[in-house]
Amino acid sequence: MIIDTHAHLNMEDYDGDLSHVLGKAIKQDVTKVMVIGMEDISNQRAIKLAETHDMLFATVGIHPGYVDEDQDVERLKNYLDHPKVVAIGECGLDFYWREDNKKLQKDIFQKQIELALIYQKPLVIHTRNSFTEAYHMVLPHKGKLKGVFHCFSSDVEDAKKAVDLGFYIGIDGPITFKNNHTLKTIVEKIDLKHILVETDSPFLTPIPYRGKRNEPGNTKYVVEKIAEIKRMDPHEVARITTENARMLFNIKED
Ligand SMILES: [Zn+2]
Repeated sequence: MIIDTHAHLNMEDYDGDLSHVLGKAIKQDVTKVMVIGMEDISNQRAIKLAETHDMLFATVGIHPGYVDEDQDVERLKNYLDHPKVVAIGECGLDFYWREDNKKLQKDIFQKQIELALIYQKPLVIHTRNSFTEAYHMVLPHKGKLKGVFHCFSSDVEDAKKAVDLGFYIGIDGPITFKNNHTLKTIVEKIDLKHILVETDSPFLTPIPYRGKRNEPGNTKYVVEKIAEIKRMDPHEVARITTENARMLFNIKED
């Protein structure tokens, strides 16, 4: 079995056919999915989906793209004791999207780091052109925080730093793209025990479905590509990355 550790099934892209999408995922051996919140409404939707589907779990957070929209970090506390809320995020820094509100992005991320420490929850961290800044915000808490640098987009040196912090590297669809040499080198060099697989659905659809809406079932193509790069059996890649996800998000065996 495979766990898709990052999917936005709470987006309206799935309003019409979620049960069909989940049925297809199960056929592809993807039997659990983390539904990722990005602001209050999507956080609530993630929880609602996790309550109504055994195979779904929720994360709640404020994504750096939403920090200006009157999002209150305190409100996350209302959700963190929920049995199916497994992490804080997605949170982090995105300086590709915007550089004019860096301070606000850092403030909101810092508050979520503090919540993770208080509630002992893992962090689902988004970085884009901002790994170094995010790394230095997590570093003072090394050993006390855990989490994943989701959709990893930096280089091998940064991946090693993330691993040294005790964090996982999230690998998704772009690993299947032809010219992604940096990501392939990361997968080659980083031990599988530090890697999580994810889709970031509905975005980042892997080959052979690139261009279409992404779905959790496509995590299978990420697993197969990692197996090819590492010259391993795909079942072994699925087994180890599933074990990693269970440990990080504290998900019990079935
Ligand atoms: Zn995401």
